[in-house]
Amino acid sequence: SERTLVLVKPDGVGRGLVGEVISRIERKGLKLVALELRHVDRALAEQHYAEHDGKPFFNDLLEFITSGPVVAAVVEGPRAIAAFRQIAGGTDPVEKAAPGSIRGDYGLEVQYNLVHGSDSAESAGREIKLWFPDL
Ligand code: ATP
Repeated sequence: SERTLVLVKPDGVGRGLVGEVISRIERKGLKLVALELRHVDRALAEQHYAEHDGKPFFNDLLEFITSGPVVAAVVEGPRAIAAFRQIAGGTDPVEKAAPGSIRGDYGLEVQYNLVHGSDSAESAGREIKLWFPDL
């Protein structure tokens, strides 16, 4: 079994899609190990997105992720990292995410793509430690 960090980003929380995302995670067969509403400060945002430092969209990304509460979760199951990325859909909600995925069903713009899921075992380990240090 494997763990991944999932975020419902401020657009997803603001649009009332928390229940929908949690429901899809549960229906897939994945388990919630931690779940919390969080206000993200600039320092946490910078650490979470450190790999994007220097990219043209970095500042917008930090502004966006700190613009309102997020729901952070640790999700567990066999191949949880790939399984959540499958139900999330590709980064671009129109060009990459298939209909039936969270982003494919509810998203229009790359920046406002509703959810985050760790992209590798290494990222998952780092991100879970960052968001849930006591876990
Ligand atoms: P996440 O890390 O949030 O799960 P991802 O792994 O699908 O997303 P990344 O390439 O790691 O995608 O990009 C991280 C986030 O940065 C994206 O989810 C999106 O919100 C934002 N982003 C990526 N590319 C762009 C872009 N060209 N313009 C604006 N925002 C972008």
